[in-house]
Amino acid sequence: MTFLDFNFNEQLTEGLLSMGYKTPTAIQQIAIPVVMEGKDIIACAQTGTGKTASYLLPVLNLLGPHPKHQISALVLAPTRELAQQIDQQVEGLAYFTEISSQAVFGGGDGSAYEQQKRGITNKVDILIATPGRLISFLSSGSLKLNHLQYLILDEADRMLDMGFYEDIMRIISYLPAKRQTLMFSATMPPRIRTLAKSILHNPEQVNIAISQPASGINQQIYKTHDSQKTKLLTMLLNSGTYTSIIVFASTKEKVKGLYKELKAAKLKVNAFHSDITQHEREEILLEFKNKQLPIIIGTDALSRGIDVEGIDLVVNYDVPGDPEDYIHRIGRTARAATTGTAITFVNERDQRKFKNIQQLIEREIDEVPLPPEVGEAPQFKPDADGQKRRNRGGNNKRPGGGGNSGGANSGGQRKSNNNRPRGNRPNNNNKPNNNTDKPNPGTTN
Ligand code: AMP
Repeated sequence: MTFLDFNFNEQLTEGLLSMGYKTPTAIQQIAIPVVMEGKDIIACAQTGTGKTASYLLPVLNLLGPHPKHQISALVLAPTRELAQQIDQQVEGLAYFTEISSQAVFGGGDGSAYEQQKRGITNKVDILIATPGRLISFLSSGSLKLNHLQYLILDEADRMLDMGFYEDIMRIISYLPAKRQTLMFSATMPPRIRTLAKSILHNPEQVNIAISQPASGINQQIYKTHDSQKTKLLTMLLNSGTYTSIIVFASTKEKVKGLYKELKAAKLKVNAFHSDITQHEREEILLEFKNKQLPIIIGTDALSRGIDVEGIDLVVNYDVPGDPEDYIHRIGRTARAATTGTAITFVNERDQRKFKNIQQLIEREIDEVPLPPEVGEAPQFKPDADGQKRRNRGGNNKRPGGGGNSGGANSGGQRKSNNNRPRGNRPNNNNKPNNNTDKPNPGTTN
């Protein structure tokens, strides 16, 4: 199957081909025809599967190359980073059409609010928003969505985790009842099904089971004592083998501590966690995307949705508690059919968590011996954690991560999604030129 089979309009086809898209991914093959038929959809798919284009492409095609310049589609996303990335994909895909988009999200200062407000009154076709900021525009009366035809909820599970349920329901109360609604979620817990029941009309269900890590990722582990981790990490970072690196730690306190230690070791590094300002977040991500900053340390907040090409190393300083987070984290490397390395430090306490990961990905990960300078690797007792559980007389069920649908590969064939299309875009851009915080799509994405 190729994108030509969807019969998209010429301008949209030109845009997606210029983005380097050749073959639709699994979710695109299934979701696009359903959306084009005008049906509601509930899709279980994660970042990295091509899910964004699976709703953007049909909606862009339905809007046509010469849209009415009134807000016809609304995409709700949990975070400003994701909202900005979606906006960039719209800009790339719709480059040869007259469709215009605007992202609105919280954080930033009063001037960012004013800029966004001006942006949305300026003939926008697709609005991409985080729920909190959108509510403030709607309730102040500065935004009306009477002409909306398409509502998309992206990463719906995460929006609920972040406490946006009430906001979502309030936003929906401002929308026309007659609309097409598309809901995407990485997981399908009961509350997502409940939300789906209340806002979708006779939806088609699409399931792309959890994707396995891309085959281009070279996965390794080191067994370490906690006291050896920072020395080992510093050696890896100083080895000169890797140029664009993400290090994940389990808590923001750990991220902050590690940041200080790596700074003291004269490494060019920055930390990404919930205590830094919106402006700082954007600066850090922009520098990282533009390859001015080689190392970023963060919590799992970084593991979803950060779509940066060319990351060649992901380090799990701690084993993630949820096996699916492992897949999200290491999926930051080897994107778009490149290769990368994912290294996990496993201490004795984390053995069980690590076994759950191996079960989920259905393979054993190679252990690399510790460099002698770091010291002796710990000798783990076989299944020490399981032994402790039995001694406590506790329930010996496999914790977390079980019951997962695992196995099926997303089949997402991702090729280089390189640059914004080259060529002449019709001069339709009504958007105020306020997107100084956007990464240069020529070097990133
Ligand atoms: P997503 O799952 O939406 O976060 O997409 C992951 C990455 O894959 C993004 O950089 C997209 O631009 C890219 N992508 C999506 N669909 C395709 C496709 N059919 N071919 C090549 N790249 C794609």
